[in-house]
Amino acid sequence: MRINIAIDGPSAAGKSTIAKVLAERLGYVHLDTGAMYRCVALKALREKIDLNDEDGLCRMLANTDIRLTPRSEVFLDGEEVTNEIRTDEISLAASSVSKHAKVRSDLVSRQQEIARDKGFIMDGRDIGTVVLKNAEVKIYMVASPEARALRRYRQNIEKGIPTSSVEIIAEEIRQRDYQDMNRENSPLRKADDAFEIDTSDMTIEEVTERIMALATKFIHAGEEE
Ligand code: C5P
Repeated sequence: MRINIAIDGPSAAGKSTIAKVLAERLGYVHLDTGAMYRCVALKALREKIDLNDEDGLCRMLANTDIRLTPRSEVFLDGEEVTNEIRTDEISLAASSVSKHAKVRSDLVSRQQEIARDKGFIMDGRDIGTVVLKNAEVKIYMVASPEARALRRYRQNIEKGIPTSSVEIIAEEIRQRDYQDMNRENSPLRKADDAFEIDTSDMTIEEVTERIMALATKFIHAGEEE
């Protein structure tokens, strides 16, 4: 049986990294929903649309094509923006556009449509609580602010993305956590039926194994039916 796995948690807790490894192991598709909010932010900045103008953003979205490939490439209206959406400026702008109910509802429908056939590992902030409420496995991934800032710093360097210092990244993460947890619409929170994993002192392998153990139970239970 194919299942859906929802992974939520604050920025840089390790969601995307783990989701990619899990997708590879299970032969599933990873969908990074944050990349979609980042695309909205990038296009709004380029078109000089005020990030507080909810209706303006929605009009823009009506003519916006966002495509995420199984190899984690991101295409905005046909143009590859995989690395361009990873800057600190876009991170904060994504957090700003994501507070609008109408922007969320547009992207949530796109995400639900994509995951309809199961076999997805979706990561974001509202996957277990809103997008895939019926996901068989829900994970809420957390890590200490220090571990998260250091990871993001190393990741930027590895990917050749221009990076700020660890201290500045830590501040940006704090600001984004605050915005994401205190917004009115779908604030970041753990779904009641999600398993919480603190990845601060865990290796990628350890986290993956923990989730694989949960996932295989459901996958095999379905096969026995
Ligand atoms: O996951 P990532 O850090 O790339 O997401 C960028 C921003 O998009 C987050 O800070 C959050 O504000 C927003 N987001 C969201 N809901 C999601 C995924 C991301 O609100 N499902």
